[in-house]
Parts: sequence; C-alpha cells; structure tokens
Amino acid sequence: MIHTIFDKVGIPILLLINFLLFLLETKFQLRKRVQKKFTRTVINTVVSIPAFGLLRFAFLPIIVWLAFKNQDWRLGLNYFYSWPVCIKSIIAFLMLDYGNYVWHILNHKIPFLWRFHVVHHTDLDMDITTAFRFHFGELIGSVFFRGAVTLLSGASPVLVLVYEIIFEAATQFHHSNWKLPFAFERMLNKLIVTPRMHGIHHSVVRQETDSNYSVIFSFWDRLHRTASVGNLDKEVIIGVPSYNKPEELTIGFLLKLPFTKIRPWKKRDEKDTPEISNVKIN
Ligand SMILES: [Zn+2]
Repeated sequence: MIHTIFDKVGIPILLLINFLLFLLETKFQLRKRVQKKFTRTVINTVVSIPAFGLLRFAFLPIIVWLAFKNQDWRLGLNYFYSWPVCIKSIIAFLMLDYGNYVWHILNHKIPFLWRFHVVHHTDLDMDITTAFRFHFGELIGSVFFRGAVTLLSGASPVLVLVYEIIFEAATQFHHSNWKLPFAFERMLNKLIVTPRMHGIHHSVVRQETDSNYSVIFSFWDRLHRTASVGNLDKEVIIGVPSYNKPEELTIGFLLKLPFTKIRPWKKRDEKDTPEISNVKIN
C-alpha cells in the first residue's frame, strides 16, 4: 500500500510541487537571502537524507501498520460511531492535523525535543529546502506521538497515507520563500498556513517563534490563541540568535547539535547578534 500510494502517486506529486515552488520562490522572492542558496541547498538536502530514510522505511510502515491493526483493535474515535466514510475521514484528517499542532508545540516547550527541533530552526533563510531540514532524531520521537494520534483518531491506513502526502505538500508550501499577493495570502491564511505566517514562526524574536505552530490548517493557532497573524507583512529575520554564524552551521555540526549543550535563546540586541539584523523583506 505504501508503495502504491506514497511511492507511485505521492512522491511524483511532491516532486512536482517542489519544482513549481522552486520556480515561484525564485521569480517572486519574499525575504532577501542572507546565505548562498547553493550552500544551504546542499546542507539541507544532506541533513534530510537520514530523516527521509526513516520516514519512508520506518515511520510510514509503523504508522500504516498501526492503522491496519486498529481495524481489528477498533480503538479511536472513528470506531465509536457509524457515520459515512467521508465524514469519518474528515474527522480523522482534522485529528491528525491537530495532533501535529500539539506535537509541534511540545517540540518547542520540552527541552529534550527542542534539542532536535532546533536544527530545523537554525536555518538562516527559509525556502523549500528548509522543509526538509529535520534531524532524524525528531522523526524517531514523532513515531510515538503520531502513532498514538493515529490510534486515537481511528484513521484508516489509506487516510494516514493521504494525510502524509498533503502534510508534506503543505510543509513545502509554507516554508517556501514565495511572495504571494498580500491580500490573497491574508484570505488564504484564514484556512491554511501560508509562507508569511510560518515565516513569523522562524523569527529570531522568541515570542514570534513561540507562535504559529499549525501545519496544514491555520485555525488551530487561532483556536488556542497561539496565532501571530495580525501583521503578516512584517519584516522577519529568520533563525535562532544563538546559532547565527553561517560558517558554524555545517552538516556535521547540525547532525551533532542535539547531542551537544544547547545554547539558550539570546535577545536580538545582545552582543553577538546576527550580522544580518538589518535584512528587509524585498
Ligand atoms: Zn518550530
């Protein structure tokens, strides 16, 4: 099933979306770059290889297996009532997305999880390659949490795979550096997470990073008052202030980072802040 749905349909769709977003963010650039695109692309691609391997050969098989087994175990919300399949699918889809919102908050609030998630946030620019910059350790942790949400929702194996493909597509979209027409983005943002909204989540300002956690649907943040969307068109400087030296952020450094002493967040005006602090959205 993973081969039929994810490999044969999902991956070609995701590659196409990747290519289109690459063209769009190149032609309509939102934030000015502070690092060479080629260097970051190489770093983010190499860092993503172990994470993608785990996703495809461990995470997906485990989650799909759980959803299969759950058809016998009959745990989770979808097994408690007999509504039409389309209604059950919508409910399970929303639950899976809500689960990712909660998981993302935990990644920021629990120091052990932040060790791994910080690798993603140390990118000094944000574009489609940032969507792949995840430490493989974060994937391991997510198996337990997202596995539990899969059981709680009672999602079917097909739905789990469809959700994963849309999740990956949404992740590429909101990390892209694509400058959408502002009025259109503001409207779209009422429903889904958009590049400017997620850009604020990658800000060097701590309060902004601790907001906008949603992945596909943006209303989870509005519902829990964790949204920072009042000034979507604001200038954003991307990164983590205590990890702001491009020459330090090598592939080896990023892969080892979770196992080192994690530096506390620094305020922007403290010494040693980025040389990039006067970057503007162009
Ligand atoms: Zn985050």
